[in-house]
Amino acid sequence: MGKNNVVLPPQTIGIIGGGQLGRMMAMAAKYMGYNVIVLDPTPNCPTAQVSDGQIVAAYDDRNAIKELAEKSDIVTYEFENVDVEAATYIENQGKLPQGSYALEITQNREKEKMLMKELQLPVPEFSIVHNGEECEEALQNISFPVVIKTCRGGYDGKGQLKIDSEADIPEVIRFANKNKHCIIESWVTFEKEISVIFTRETTGRIEFFPIAENVHKHHILFQTTVPASVSDSVQQKAKHAAILLAEKMNIIGTFAIEMFVSGDEVFINEMAPRPHNSGHYTIEACNISQFAQHIRAICGLPLVPVKLMEPATMINILGEDVAPTLKAMPMVDNGFVHLYGKAEVKDKRKMGHITFIGENTTEQVNEFEEAKQ
Ligand code: AMP
Repeated sequence: MGKNNVVLPPQTIGIIGGGQLGRMMAMAAKYMGYNVIVLDPTPNCPTAQVSDGQIVAAYDDRNAIKELAEKSDIVTYEFENVDVEAATYIENQGKLPQGSYALEITQNREKEKMLMKELQLPVPEFSIVHNGEECEEALQNISFPVVIKTCRGGYDGKGQLKIDSEADIPEVIRFANKNKHCIIESWVTFEKEISVIFTRETTGRIEFFPIAENVHKHHILFQTTVPASVSDSVQQKAKHAAILLAEKMNIIGTFAIEMFVSGDEVFINEMAPRPHNSGHYTIEACNISQFAQHIRAICGLPLVPVKLMEPATMINILGEDVAPTLKAMPMVDNGFVHLYGKAEVKDKRKMGHITFIGENTTEQVNEFEEAKQ
């Protein structure tokens, strides 16, 4: 399909990646009557459980990618570590509206930061290093604390290390020698972390979801609250940055940008070319979810003007929270529990989330937490 063509139900949407984001995309697509097929190496993965079919193969298996493209009218990805060549193959058939460029940028922290610099967007002070020696040199010019991150492949705090003082430099050097291509960033003292989630349609029109305020624990998203309590000027700066980035990368679909707020300043942290954990609240709190809006965008349908219906707080359910959450569920009449159907429960693994809506979400969260004890 060309960029201006429309994919209508019951045509087929192919999803690369079968985790929770693919699952919630698939559920939105199924509501609308689409046929959904997923490519993922794990049989009966979270997305396959709610889809019409699965190709069980590695994400970079060329034959599987070819089969997915053949069987689908349109293809989307739920994560950024898709093989760029495979994505380009589908893009060249006119079936990947999200494109391969956004993948190429967002799967590499160096490219991501260089693009932000090119657009003159504020980012934490950083240096790119390839070994311990370069790392030692870079640390002479960056003020502590610092965080070192692998340029590729890191997520949820994996592939990063924060150090507070010069005494810990040997640890960073070891990290750089082991991981090679890394970025060292100064640690921003921020008051708030926010995320800007928006959807862009094929005509270039953008619909923003309300800016969300995020709390991380051990580098993993713990809680999202909406609306974020930030000034109008912060909101404007955040949205301005989002528009510049979206236009530069010609984004189609739902896209997320994480930022640090310090006083009136906004620093861009990282981007995801897909729906985001901090946007799960949209399922219950908005008139349209980030997933349904994504499906509309990639299918060439006009976006729904977004409205926040209720304030919301979302908390993640990690592996260690599953049993206490199940214990609390029969005792509490608040909170929309989502479990992703992952076969293996592991500590710190994202297994689900709960969304609380209304004016008193803090009390609702406390009530739920008490019932978990
Ligand atoms: P990331 O994987 O880059 O999103 O990092 C995960 C989390 O670590 C962020 O959401 C922040 O809470 C924290 N973090 C990462 N980089 C920085 C930084 N340069 N300054 C302060 N906090 C950071």
